[in-house]
Amino acid sequence: MQIINNYIDGDTVEIKSERFSDVFNPSTGKAIAKVGLSSDKEVDTAVASSKIAFEKWSKMTSLKRSRILNKFRILLEDNAEEMAYLISKEHGKVHSDALGEVTRGIEVVEFACGAPHLLKGEMTENVGTDIDSYSVRQPLGVVAGITPFNFPAMVPMWMFPMALACGNTFVLKPSERDPSVVMFYAKLMTKAGFPDGVFNVVQGDKVAVDRLLSHPDVSAISFVGSTPIAKYIYHTGALHGKRVQSLGGAKNHMVVMPDADMEGAVNGLMGAAYGSAGERCMAISVVVAVGEEIAEKLKKALKEQISKLKIGPGSDPEAEMGPLVTHQHLERVKEYIDSGIEQGAELVVDGRGYKSEKKDCEKGFFMGASLFDNVTPEMKIYKEEIFGPVLSMVRVNSFEEAVQLINSHEFGNGTTIYTRDGDSARSFSNSIQVGMVGVNIPIPVPMAFHSFGGWKASLFGVNHMHGIDGIRFYTRLKTITTRWPKGIRNDNEFIMPTM
Ligand code: NAD
Repeated sequence: MQIINNYIDGDTVEIKSERFSDVFNPSTGKAIAKVGLSSDKEVDTAVASSKIAFEKWSKMTSLKRSRILNKFRILLEDNAEEMAYLISKEHGKVHSDALGEVTRGIEVVEFACGAPHLLKGEMTENVGTDIDSYSVRQPLGVVAGITPFNFPAMVPMWMFPMALACGNTFVLKPSERDPSVVMFYAKLMTKAGFPDGVFNVVQGDKVAVDRLLSHPDVSAISFVGSTPIAKYIYHTGALHGKRVQSLGGAKNHMVVMPDADMEGAVNGLMGAAYGSAGERCMAISVVVAVGEEIAEKLKKALKEQISKLKIGPGSDPEAEMGPLVTHQHLERVKEYIDSGIEQGAELVVDGRGYKSEKKDCEKGFFMGASLFDNVTPEMKIYKEEIFGPVLSMVRVNSFEEAVQLINSHEFGNGTTIYTRDGDSARSFSNSIQVGMVGVNIPIPVPMAFHSFGGWKASLFGVNHMHGIDGIRFYTRLKTITTRWPKGIRNDNEFIMPTM
């Protein structure tokens, strides 16, 4: 069976810990590879390599670094199909969706190529008599990224292109569930001309993560994953004096107002709730129907659309929704459905019994789309992130009630409103306690040149990912104040300088 190893100093390096984790093809349910789980020592090797690489990489001109990134971008575009294939094989998402993920990742590389402009500092002439001041942004050193399974190519690309463009070197710990695509593009990076050690990959689990969190030569940690782990990463990283940005889970609501374009809302909901089998941090998992009439219309239309949903393996070009990532996760999602029924929600469509009849897919981790109506805020299926193809409908009587419902939720990643009324849309955008907001947009994911991040339990730390916040996170500010001999004063300078 194929063994997936580390990538250090421009080459594959065997993991000798003798600990492994199975990697599955979720469409067939078969284990297709084993990924090694690095020991502390193996993490130390990667960090040491990145520390050496930092010396030269940080001193290279930002224009030269950008040119290498640009070569990498071209290689990514040339190899996008292959990458999408690798993603589908280990994650399960359908090929077109995987290709979309690769594209969104490439957009961050494209943005990071503008680093020479983005890193320009500020200068003020004559802050005092004959004194000038300027500020520059300098890299932090070795920085680390720890990423989730649901976007194995894109989420790492939210991080390392920005970090490298700013002059840092990077150690990535990808998800142990779908580690291959990162290994694929690590090789492309070497081909593009990144010096050895600038980008290293350590495969692993908690052992590798804990070593990165405590390693004295790691300056900053970027994390994306579930909220309990995000909190742990934030606290532990900070305890070790590191800069941390830690993105957690989500529960995203779509509000449908009585004046909404119903067809647009239903089509948007289908993709946002069931695309990638609901395994997206920006998936819509709650639809908030404003008024009984809208609720009834939504229920009828969604039921009809769900009956037409095409479920299949990633390799099936017709498929719109693939399997869940592991058998364990499938069982967990089914348990949430049991819980919804027990707590009194109305299960309108039950996806638990779905079995694929496609060749070799009988044991795949598939389930059908599920829809609950009459969900209330006390229910577990409302409070917690399910991360599966399960949509809950909550009925409210007014716009104000919808806003209050969303603002009371623990999570604040994304949300959207469907309406034709400008007042409602504006009031929603202004008052909602959520980091990424859409108006008549099902999944309002910011582009690479804006920043991605939620509020409340969806993000711990200050900076969001990519965009200008990415530059801020991966650099520290230095302000230099200068005076040249002609301006030097001859008297003593004991008092606080004033202008
Ligand atoms: P996860 O939290 O289980 O794992 C994320 C990473 O943390 C992995 O690399 C994993 O190896 C590591 N990890 C897991 N347990 C750990 C532990 N006890 N100690 C240290 N490290 C540990 O998340 P997942 O299941 O891979 O991904 C799904 C989650 O990620 C969902 O909650 C989803 O909402 C979230 N997510 C959030 C965003 C966002 O932008 N907010 C984006 C994508 C995914």
